[in-house]
Amino acid sequence: MLDDKDRIFTNLYGMHDRSLKGARARGHWDGTAEIIKRGRDEIIAVMKASGLRGRGGAGFPTGLKWSFMPKESDGRPAYLVVNADESEPGTCKDREIMRHDPHTLIEGCLIASFAMGAHACYVYLRGEYIREREALQAAIDECYDAGLLGPNAAKSGWDFDIYLHHGAGAYICGEETALLESLEGKKGMPRLKPPFPANTGLYGCPTTVNNVESIAVAPTILRRGADWFAGFGRPNNTGTKIFAISGHVNAPCVVEEEMSITLRELLDRHCGGVRGGWDNLKAVIPGGSSVPLLPASLCEDAIMDFDWLRDQKSGLGTAAVMVMDQSVDVIKAIWRLSAFYKHESCGQCTPCREGTGWMMRVMQRLVTGDAEIEEIDMLLEVTTQVEGHTICALGDAAAWPIQGLIRHFRGEIEDRIKAKQRGRVSAMAAG
Ligand code: NAD
Ligand code: SF4
Repeated sequence: MLDDKDRIFTNLYGMHDRSLKGARARGHWDGTAEIIKRGRDEIIAVMKASGLRGRGGAGFPTGLKWSFMPKESDGRPAYLVVNADESEPGTCKDREIMRHDPHTLIEGCLIASFAMGAHACYVYLRGEYIREREALQAAIDECYDAGLLGPNAAKSGWDFDIYLHHGAGAYICGEETALLESLEGKKGMPRLKPPFPANTGLYGCPTTVNNVESIAVAPTILRRGADWFAGFGRPNNTGTKIFAISGHVNAPCVVEEEMSITLRELLDRHCGGVRGGWDNLKAVIPGGSSVPLLPASLCEDAIMDFDWLRDQKSGLGTAAVMVMDQSVDVIKAIWRLSAFYKHESCGQCTPCREGTGWMMRVMQRLVTGDAEIEEIDMLLEVTTQVEGHTICALGDAAAWPIQGLIRHFRGEIEDRIKAKQRGRVSAMAAG
């Protein structure tokens, strides 16, 4: 359980001054030049030792990712790109950072860029994040005025600029290579990987794409030390983490907690518990729409971290926790996600373009009970043909929630089909 003194984001709800003055009063921009003067290698070593894993959803080790950037310049500029295209359904944590604690991100951009040899950083914001762009731009302007950005940023000896770029509302532009395409002014379609962006990224130059939260926690890790950060959570799942909790809890919220907190403690401590009590819980999607749900039976002991959730064939993803009580038609809820992925597929590869539509249509029949029982396994088979056979993770994201539904709620799906069949037989008999 996290104490207030160990929270990195102390202004998530905007109760305090978000300006530079307020940020400094909360400990940000303290000793930034000294951190930078420790040098690239040491900064990356501390980030690796902290165990920080990417907070955008995939959980790739952040320090390791930074270390992929070339040590020596081959004449190409290097870039940091911050992925602020937060579009995963249920996810609204980066939004709170940019709205209310923007200086954590800006200071992080400077330090991370220095560690990767980048003099420029692009922040790619979700199209709908207009208030967030305004807040971030205002904070950036303050930093230029105070000499924290620009030539010799924060008196560190490093010249550094930040540019904001606004997306136009396509979910796929949150995929890092589609984001780079979009930033270059092209249609936002994912590229094949490898090459990874550290090799060939923005304008063909070495680039690291990091999530907002991953960058915003870096200055505090470097100030307080790798051991401090690694002291939270479990091995391989360290640190503090922002959870965005929505759905059937008494008080939905966005909160920074210790990684590996139990789901029960998270909901009881910060959300006033499940609506109608724990016994009224039906299922939880623990990490945004791309990860399979957990039925109530698995929620009791659920540990909110990458490894525990992966072992349950689910995932921490973006840590967007969506709580569903007994009133929820869980088949319909997953159908809704299928419709979302069909809509957002960029159409570039066949298994995703055709598969998402196919899966959505069968899901639709499961909702109304009009499918045949055999179609459940047929649908499952199709999800395995989409999963792992596409250019980007959208195909997996469309397949996994359906797999989770069938794994845990097959009985409910079958009951609905059988009830519909009985209804049809009775109607025929009556007619
Ligand atoms: P990924 O596992 O392909 O990559 C994660 C990161 O690690 C990338 O930056 C990638 O370049 C890097 N990486 C992976 N392997 C590498 C290697 N061998 N060498 C160098 N770099 C390597 O996952 P992804 O497609 O970036 O992300 C998928 C996740 O994104 C989903 O699981 C979902 O949870 C999440 N997501 C988040 C949002 C959001 O709004 N935050 C939206 C959609 C999806
Ligand atoms: Fe586009 Fe889907 Fe292929 Fe990703 S998996 S590249 S979204 S068609």
